[in-house]
Amino acid sequence: MVTIYFDKQLSRFMVGITVPTSFSVPNGFFTYEIEAGEYAVFQFKGLYHELNRVYRYIYPDWYTRQNRGLPYAILIGIAINPQFIKTVYDSPHYVHTLNDEYAQTENHAGLIADKLADRLVRKGYKALSQSDNTLITENTFDFTTKTSVLPHKTIAVLSGIGYIGKNNLFITTEYGAVQCLGTVLTNAPISIMKYKIKSSQCGNCNICKDVCPQKVLNGVC
Ligand code: SF4
Repeated sequence: MVTIYFDKQLSRFMVGITVPTSFSVPNGFFTYEIEAGEYAVFQFKGLYHELNRVYRYIYPDWYTRQNRGLPYAILIGIAINPQFIKTVYDSPHYVHTLNDEYAQTENHAGLIADKLADRLVRKGYKALSQSDNTLITENTFDFTTKTSVLPHKTIAVLSGIGYIGKNNLFITTEYGAVQCLGTVLTNAPISIMKYKIKSSQCGNCNICKDVCPQKVLNGVC
């Protein structure tokens, strides 16, 4: 069973089950297509009155832990030099180093995020750069799963400028997957424009899955 909550104020929600597109809907029921996007999915087993425990976990704990109580995110993207990508492509046994073009570009994105956060703080706002250094310092990076509590990719998808491909990377029309991301969380009142979240545009393409030497991609996004 799936429950979708639309808003907290009006407590509107739907309860249903997932069905294939070919499913013939009985009278009195309807289908609702969930738009592509980034969703938080929580699984709960228990009695209805125990649901409060879940809400308490989601709102004060998980949600605040994700955005650290800061409502806005600034995304920084830096394209990686295409010549470096060609070198990697031409070297099937290429080993990533801490000094190569990728590492330097990633480091650069983190430094810009650090400087931006620093400037916002000096202007009197709260701001947090999600550079590697900060994530390690605040213990919000899981080295086992290589994930942070609020990944740059999640913020990038929410910005509406790209999508996650079958290679699990963030893809934009201009640069494909060849970019490094950085983010700053802040309460500075920056003006925002809302863009629709993009669905994957991989379609029937499976190039990355087919060329992956370790066969770690499953062709799903
Ligand atoms: S499936 Fe094709 S379009 Fe999608 S990420 Fe892989 S190579 Fe790119």
